[in-house]
Amino acid sequence: MGVRIVGGGLAGSEAAWQAAASGARVTLYEMRPVRPTAVHKTDRLAELVCSNSFRGDKLDNAVGLLKEEMRRLGSLVMRAAEASRVPAGAALAVDRERFADIITRTLDDHPLVTIVREEIASIPASSGDEPVIVATGPLTSDALSADLASLVGQGHLYFYDAISPIVLAETIDMSKVFRQSRWGRSLRRGLVEVDLGRPVQGGASSAPTSEPAGPACGVDDGQGDYLNCPLTREEYERFYDGLVTAESATVHDFDKERFFEGCLPIEVMAHRGRDTLRFGPMKPVGLVDPRTGREPYAAVQLRQDNLAGDHFSLVGFQTQIKWADQARVLRLIPGLENAEFVRFGMVHRNTYVNGPTVLADTWQVRTRPSLFFAGQMSGVEGYVESAASGLLAGLNAAAMTRGEPVSTPPRTTAIGALSYYVSHANPAHYEPSNITFGIMQPLERAPKGKKLRNEALSARALADLDAWLVLRPIRQAQGRQEHERTRDNARPELVEGRAER
Ligand SMILES: Cc1cc2nc3c(=O)[nH]c(=O)nc-3n(C[C@H](O)[C@H](O)[C@H](O)COP(=O)(O)OP(=O)(O)OC[C@H]3O[C@@H](n4cnc5c(N)ncnc54)[C@H](O)[C@@H]3O)c2cc1C
Repeated sequence: MGVRIVGGGLAGSEAAWQAAASGARVTLYEMRPVRPTAVHKTDRLAELVCSNSFRGDKLDNAVGLLKEEMRRLGSLVMRAAEASRVPAGAALAVDRERFADIITRTLDDHPLVTIVREEIASIPASSGDEPVIVATGPLTSDALSADLASLVGQGHLYFYDAISPIVLAETIDMSKVFRQSRWGRSLRRGLVEVDLGRPVQGGASSAPTSEPAGPACGVDDGQGDYLNCPLTREEYERFYDGLVTAESATVHDFDKERFFEGCLPIEVMAHRGRDTLRFGPMKPVGLVDPRTGREPYAAVQLRQDNLAGDHFSLVGFQTQIKWADQARVLRLIPGLENAEFVRFGMVHRNTYVNGPTVLADTWQVRTRPSLFFAGQMSGVEGYVESAASGLLAGLNAAAMTRGEPVSTPPRTTAIGALSYYVSHANPAHYEPSNITFGIMQPLERAPKGKKLRNEALSARALADLDAWLVLRPIRQAQGRQEHERTRDNARPELVEGRAER
């Protein structure tokens, strides 16, 4: 009996700690150093592959709130980060070696944790007594990726991240853009209906109404409610010249593979010909600029990116241009002259599942509740978010071994909002997300001003998390009693997980 975890990165290490700290035996499988990845450099657990920053650490930003919640939930990643902190202003940055050393040593020394250095090529068998957490990250090994694809369906597993830039709505010049769907097609057809109430086996929330998963890269499928930036011929030429002379970001070794044709960076398309973009993501067909009554020469479409409506992504604008140049070139688009970017475009190797299709908000696989996914491969983005998902998967997997109910903090918390986003976002346009206030449940009465609003969201989140923590032992005890009562009466084939592979 115990929890098996595949992948000793940020998510897997946090999951191992949480499960062991709540008394479960843990076996943690990590393939390094036996099989290296293209970006990890050491054999340590929780190695930070790029930046040494865990981003903002104040409660007026969402990742600062997420970190505070993780501290309250006893996070090992947060504890190791504090102990290896380096000066970085309002951000939490760490000495990466010390950080990974602390995590590795802590788990190595833990009497309930066994670390096995081995590549796991297929998803291990799981059951209610022995749940499995897969947390193999963006660079999941090829063999395991193939097995994952057969479990979740080829169309729900992505291998590249094609991230378009996201712009802050209040910085778009609305006098230059117009709201319209291509061909005037109906709005909202593709949106998910969310049902918060119905539990599924294992205590998870119900599945959203499934829409077929769309392509990894956004294209206008006529389903959205778009803001359109129209370009004249002169504006298009100016943008094109800026784009083809912009500096591209360094390409990692693993990125040297060919891009999927449907996910080409805009600069790669632009180099194919002066008009290629006008027949691709900048095509104007089906759009009529109300100010001229005509189809523009070219157009850039912006799609609402969060529930709050304050973030818009540039449709089909995945790019590897360096961030400073990216801002300069994108500001050549009419309406975006003063745009502030919440996130820049990127293309990199990234194995992740279509969260809303595959996962419940407890990080359980909907079709197999004794199997959990966590970390970047579960469809979140970022070190902190990966660790946060591992934290909940670890707590829930351990609860399952004791016959207790699985649960997730409310959507008003950052960690609950992240769980909700991954399991309930629109699957047709699913993209991994960092935590932002935009994916949290809005306040009923929000104070004026962004800083005050964010602080109020944080205050509510921490109060709600504390209340959830107080009630958790009571729910656990009730779950244990219920489990004891029903266990002897249950037909063996209906006991959770028994029939699973
Ligand atoms: C190049 C790159 C740069 C990034 N830079 C940043 C950044 O600067 N800031 C940020 O916040 N986020 C960044 N990310 C995104 C993401 O937050 C990190 O990748 C983060 O490490 C994800 O945590 P994880 O636990 O999901 O995966 P990882 O930390 O990658 O851990 C997964 C572990 O699973 C192991 N593994 C894989 N397959 C198997 C297998 N079959 N059997 C056993 N073990 C296996 C791997 O060796 C690895 O140790 C970056 C991602 C990439 C790809």
